[in-house]
Amino acid sequence: ISKFTGRSRVTVYDPQIVDADHSNESLAGLLAHAIERQCISVVYQPIVQLGTGEVLGYEALMRLKGSNGRLVKPDVFIPVAEQNGAIVELGAWVFEQACADVARYKLTGIVAVNISAVQLKAPGFALRVAEMLARHGLAPRQFALELSERGDILGQSQAAQAVEQLRSLGVQIWLDDFGTGYAGIDCLRRFDLDIVKIDRSFLPERQCAQDVRMLEGMIQLLRSLGRTVLVEGVETEEQKALLEELDVDLIQGFLIGRPQPVGEIVGIENSEVA
Ligand code: C2E
Ligand code: MG
Ligand code: MG
Ligand code: MG
Repeated sequence: ISKFTGRSRVTVYDPQIVDADHSNESLAGLLAHAIERQCISVVYQPIVQLGTGEVLGYEALMRLKGSNGRLVKPDVFIPVAEQNGAIVELGAWVFEQACADVARYKLTGIVAVNISAVQLKAPGFALRVAEMLARHGLAPRQFALELSERGDILGQSQAAQAVEQLRSLGVQIWLDDFGTGYAGIDCLRRFDLDIVKIDRSFLPERQCAQDVRMLEGMIQLLRSLGRTVLVEGVETEEQKALLEELDVDLIQGFLIGRPQPVGEIVGIENSEVA
């Protein structure tokens, strides 16, 4: 009976998500069999040039279907997968799927894949990426790896070494969730990042002067270091206008497009080509 109370109604309005019913143990079980049971999939969210509206590419985001058929939030299952190591295989599956989709649908934009610190530290990660790209006949430049500064990512020498290997392979390296962790400024200093994504928590909902100045300062810092700046989580025209004023390069958010299955974005790509 409890399944039919308030919370489940939410999913009617937002098919994207949410199921908070899983305990950590049942989640771990779900994750262990997610690939063979075809419970995971990838959706793609467009990233556009703010000036021209041109699509630069897409962020690949993992989706997990729970035992009751509803989606589990990545913010819920990713930490569990990182903790028990399942993220290594799940993350590889996402990258492989992204390669297959790019090859099959001849996508021309850049595809950015989220990589957990746990994956980056796993032995042979860079080699595995190189192998997948080669097997699908794809150019490394078409892929970006999003490293979140939330996790303890670049402090460890293993991870730093993997980043260098990936760079020399030609894969782009982006920094995700800038501003939320402790590693951000240090990462900027140590790594030649292609794009820095400012976390959406820094995007003001209204034009509060203090918040705007904060965001402006972050953008100026990144600009003075020659980084390309992306702001994520853009939901309103007002926010977009603010980012135009602040001269941001790239944006991503529900205002531009929600994460969608590859079939839905193929239309966008084709209309661009035509
Ligand atoms: P992220 O990498 O920062 O991804 C952006 C998140 O913001 C996505 O949530 C996306 O759906 C959401 N988002 C995009 N635009 C908007 C907007 O305008 N408003 C709001 N409120 N949200 C927006 P999602 O898909 O739930 O993923 C959450 C986090 O889970 C990701 O944050 C990333 O850290 C992690 N994640 C997702 N897929 C993967 C994956 O394949 N591997 C790894 N390691 N982590 C992943
Ligand atoms: Mg990301
Ligand atoms: Mg992000
Ligand atoms: Mg984020």
